[in-house]
Amino acid sequence: MTARCSVTAALILCLTALNTEAADVRAYVIARTNGEVAAAPYRVATCISDMNIVYSQVGLAFNLVECAVVTSNELYVVDYTNAASRIALCNYAANTGGIELYFVGEITSSQARAFHTKRGIVVGPDATPRDVSHEVGHACGWKDVYESHSGTDLSVEGRPRQEWMPDDWSPFYPRTMTQAGIIQKLLMYGRSGDGHIDIPAGDVRGLWYINVFNHATHNWTRDWRISLAPVSAWHGMNRDPQNE
Ligand SMILES: [Zn+2]
Repeated sequence: MTARCSVTAALILCLTALNTEAADVRAYVIARTNGEVAAAPYRVATCISDMNIVYSQVGLAFNLVECAVVTSNELYVVDYTNAASRIALCNYAANTGGIELYFVGEITSSQARAFHTKRGIVVGPDATPRDVSHEVGHACGWKDVYESHSGTDLSVEGRPRQEWMPDDWSPFYPRTMTQAGIIQKLLMYGRSGDGHIDIPAGDVRGLWYINVFNHATHNWTRDWRISLAPVSAWHGMNRDPQNE
């Protein structure tokens, strides 16, 4: 069952006027049959607004083309560790040709406030607009980057060097600036917080991982490394992000 958000039409008109080229976003706000709704319309609007602020750095804009309330007690709570639960939610809409945001009432089995899957982005009740903009970064093909992480002994130390950010280097970084400090300002910094916004021109040296499937244990593990992390506009950014 769906009902249009009252603000959608006005938003579409406003954003279409501002942006001649933009990626489509569809928002699905899950509601319980008792009337509890996972997100108010203004929350959806502030997420789209933040995405447009953040991605203006790289000339990418977003249009909210649909905002629907989906009444389903089953979909209101998503279990992060349960693939069937995630898929049931994110298959509500498929192949819309753009980004699909699913606002849920609760994310269980995880500290994540929001997370990205190839089928859509799940937004929990505590997620900030910047959290959502970060998850859209994953849809653009970028990885999380850290200065250190409890999952590894590796950590990024020292002051920035040209070879650690070759496409963004300037001789004018403050003397007190560290490479860790630069990483913490990146949109794809993997920890929560609203301060991170930077989308660098080129990749930046940081701590990151790829998921590797262990055929012996049948588990995914994180293969950590410190190198130029794929977090940038020039190297491998998908400028037409779409969910399945
Ligand atoms: Zn992330």
